[in-house]
Amino acid sequence: MSELPQRQTDIGPPHYEQFLPPVIKKNYGKWKYHEQLGPGHMVHVSESGDKLWTVRVASPRLLSTDTIKDICDIADAHCDGYLRFTTRHNVEFMVDDESKVEPLMKELKDKGFMIGGIGPRISNVVHTQGWVHCHSAATDASGLVKVLMDDLGEYFTTKSLPNRVRLAVACCVNMCGAVHCSDIALVGVHKTPPRIEHDKVKNLCEIPSTIASCPTSAISPDPQNKSVKIKIEKCMYCGNCYSVCPAMPIADPKNDGIAIVIGGKVSNLRSNPKFSKLAVPWLPNTPPRWTETVAAVRKILETYEAGAKKHERLGEWVERIGWEKFFKVTGLEFTLQHVDDFTFARETWRMAATFKW
Ligand code: SF4
Ligand code: SF4
Repeated sequence: MSELPQRQTDIGPPHYEQFLPPVIKKNYGKWKYHEQLGPGHMVHVSESGDKLWTVRVASPRLLSTDTIKDICDIADAHCDGYLRFTTRHNVEFMVDDESKVEPLMKELKDKGFMIGGIGPRISNVVHTQGWVHCHSAATDASGLVKVLMDDLGEYFTTKSLPNRVRLAVACCVNMCGAVHCSDIALVGVHKTPPRIEHDKVKNLCEIPSTIASCPTSAISPDPQNKSVKIKIEKCMYCGNCYSVCPAMPIADPKNDGIAIVIGGKVSNLRSNPKFSKLAVPWLPNTPPRWTETVAAVRKILETYEAGAKKHERLGEWVERIGWEKFFKVTGLEFTLQHVDDFTFARETWRMAATFKW
């Protein structure tokens, strides 16, 4: 390391080591085991005899500044200012003295935070931007997360499942969320092609890059209108062209909706990591409570809870009983959309310039 003072830049994150609580820094790489003490409460024990208690709470992921201030105040008051966010956006408060645990949990409960999510339970829902922020959303993300956690909260705070169940929401198939590798995931889907606003295309869009943005080569020039045209049967409603050309909006209040995919996981414990597979092709957007979607997720979760063996992840359970039986026991309909017969994918989706480079 150079002796020169380090230049402050905004390139890349600062080194994580400076954010580690002193007890973690001291025992780095020397943790012997950990023990789960409750649904949102665990202790790590080091070879040196040091212990670290962790309390986990859910966060809605998109956080207001008031909530962030609350979280920081609690960390300042109880944890010497240290906290961490997990990959699922749970907030973890860590203390090095058992006597600090109860007051910390009391304040978290008093402030309305949900404690839980450790062990065989649902995770906090990892999600994307939704209507609040993104132009290509086919559904909302924050709203769906809210209604899902309102309904399934007991599986975070008290009830246990055969194994952990990771939940995710992505508001379109661009899929900024971890939908492809989560146990139960919702993904917003468009069902109609983009509408071309010819009078705006020529002023707002660059024709070659708009054509190049389509993964299935569905877009071609329309010289007569100084615009583009779409070969509808090749369009898979991905919305990629709308990201490049704002004169091709794809949002459709009547036909946009939600698909449910299940059985994905990142872990390689007991079986290989898995991609999620389609369980429900489309449910309508019915804000503010999305009752059909929440009921379908609960149905899948409860059927898994009743039928899986201890330690079986949702995808492992479905593979053991077979997909045919999965549709039978859940009562979900097997439809034409479950059969992948789209002929324009060719060998790979990575055909457009945007994907090649
Ligand atoms: S998943 Fe789609 S709609 Fe949602 S934030 Fe990402 S790109 Fe936007
Ligand atoms: S980029 Fe996607 S939405 Fe746009 S025309 Fe191509 S397939 Fe359809």
